[in-house]
Amino acid sequence: MTSETTHFDYICIGGGSGGIASANRASRYGKKAAIIEAKAIGGTCVNVGCVPKKAMWYGAQVAEAIKVYAPDYGFDVTLNNFSWAKLVESRSAYIDRIHQSYDRVLGNNDVTVINGFAKFIDNKTIDVNGTQYTADHITIAVGGRPVKPNIPGAELGIDSDGFFDLKEQPKRVVVVGAGYIAVELAGVMHSLGSETHLLVRKEKPLRNFDDTIADTLVEIMQEDGPTLHKNTAVNSLEKQSDGSILVTINGGETIEADAVVWAIGREPANDKIQLENTDVELNERGYIKVDEFQNTTAEGIYAVGDNIGKVDLTPVAVKAGRLLSERLFNNKPDAKMDYDLIPTVVFSHPPIGTIGLSEKEAEDAYGKDNIKVYNSSFAAMYTAVTQHRQATKMKLITAGSEEKVVGLHGIGFAMDEILQGFGVAIKMGATKADFDACVAIHPTSAEEFVTL
Ligand code: FAD
Ligand code: NDP
Repeated sequence: MTSETTHFDYICIGGGSGGIASANRASRYGKKAAIIEAKAIGGTCVNVGCVPKKAMWYGAQVAEAIKVYAPDYGFDVTLNNFSWAKLVESRSAYIDRIHQSYDRVLGNNDVTVINGFAKFIDNKTIDVNGTQYTADHITIAVGGRPVKPNIPGAELGIDSDGFFDLKEQPKRVVVVGAGYIAVELAGVMHSLGSETHLLVRKEKPLRNFDDTIADTLVEIMQEDGPTLHKNTAVNSLEKQSDGSILVTINGGETIEADAVVWAIGREPANDKIQLENTDVELNERGYIKVDEFQNTTAEGIYAVGDNIGKVDLTPVAVKAGRLLSERLFNNKPDAKMDYDLIPTVVFSHPPIGTIGLSEKEAEDAYGKDNIKVYNSSFAAMYTAVTQHRQATKMKLITAGSEEKVVGLHGIGFAMDEILQGFGVAIKMGATKADFDACVAIHPTSAEEFVTL
């Protein structure tokens, strides 16, 4: 240990969702805590993830309201201009306010924020730009980063980080991928007026979601959405003399675009923190091996968030980080994250909300004869009042004679806000009879779940 080494009770490497939540909670119990952050405080979610994405999604909602729905509600609206720069400015100002709020809370909690890139020297010692820090407990919460494919010209495409850097709205966009990010960004760009192509390599996007949900998304996209190219492989990207990008697909066809966005998945950022100097082991995909208590294979080192390869969502990283601090610093030896029944929303157009098992998963888990599935299909009233009726589909999957709800899925207007409360009920073990016992709120979309 050098004379400059500073000792903390607790260090979180990574000032994103998991690291901040865990360090703040540790400080609540009087621990001397620090966060080491290489970039901007808030991590992926605040800077290049949930928050800027949702701001863009809200922008897209405004565009849809003006362009699609306003006329039938009696508004004679003339849309003179949409300023991408203004939306980005408002988004950035909002994120600045979140940064200030984080600084304030971390300051009030006496959590030290160390700016720089952390590397392990040994199990207890971390180097940041030549300065060494030690801690009794260290949590690795370094998150992940987007990947690009290994094809000619791949570097001409941007990823989701690059998307949030765009200063101008690309007129023609190709989005490649089939997960949350591809669906969300393609939907936003389409609604904001870019000619948008969504390229999926298999038969549909969101393949691991319930079929009813994914199939309905495809139907709605085909009516009004980005142009969906199914079973489409990208062979190469090539810069043209006018600055546009030529995307070659399926061995010959081409699409011209002003921007190509890779949204083909993310990988953990565990590879540059010198874990070889510790006893922390990675699995074959580069994620940190943890047990159910977030313990790594090294004594006193823990990991939470996107770098453990479980569920890559902000509230999951936050909860796992907080519960870890409860266990370590608040004498709660059994505190641990429950990774079962996590509600999640895709901010597509319209949004998707889902918790629990898909119909296929429920059949596999309980047997086809032991599940009962309730479906509802209707046009959300917000759209049904207009000529632009948009489908809403809802599905409740129950298991056993007691009809315990094991899956709830929906796609449609407001589904993003509907899900949370039903998540509580399902987490409590609600049955179909419990759902039925709750009086409907009328007229809403949500009421369908209690009147099935
Ligand atoms: P991160 O938030 O990624 O934080 C890790 C931090 O560690 C980063 O700030 C990084 O700079 C820092 N770091 C890395 N290495 C080092 C090092 N060696 N030294 C110091 N610092 C380091 N989730 C949702 O729940 N809802 C959404 O709507 C949603 N939308 C998303 C949209 C996009 C485009 C993306 C990419 C993700 C989205 N997510 C969403 C996922 C969510 O952002 C992540 O699950 C969450 O941020 C993970 O938190 P984390 O703490 O594990 O990592
Ligand atoms: P995902 O892992 O969700 O999806 C990526 C998909 O892209 C794959 O499932 C695969 O689908 C497809 N794909 C993979 N490789 C290729 C390739 N070479 N060419 C074409 N397609 C390919 O990753 P995302 O980056 O979308 O999101 C990462 C995670 O971040 C999400 O899983 C989610 O946990 C989180 N997130 C959450 C959000 C939210 O809560 N609203 C929003 C955004 C992200 P297939 O096999 O079907 O082709």
